[in-house]
Amino acid sequence: MESLSNHDPVAKLRCPRCQTRLDVYERRSGGRTIAVTVLGPAVEQTAEGLETIELPDAGPEITCPACRQRFDPSGPYRPIPPLSRGR
Ligand SMILES: [Zn+2]
Repeated sequence: MESLSNHDPVAKLRCPRCQTRLDVYERRSGGRTIAVTVLGPAVEQTAEGLETIELPDAGPEITCPACRQRFDPSGPYRPIPPLSRGR
């Protein structure tokens, strides 16, 4: 059996584009692995992959393995409210 301590995701995310659920794992060698846990309905049949490996210098954004959308994992992805609070 593999050690579970190496397999706890550091983050659970949802792709803002295809709604695929993702687990993010930090890699011992640096960088991280993004693994699909549940494919979103839009990519159930067309997912490009179920796992993406990011290099340590890839920056803060992660890539959705299923649709290749890059997004900032720290972003809440709420819709931006319209600029209606004017005078
Ligand atoms: Zn996606």
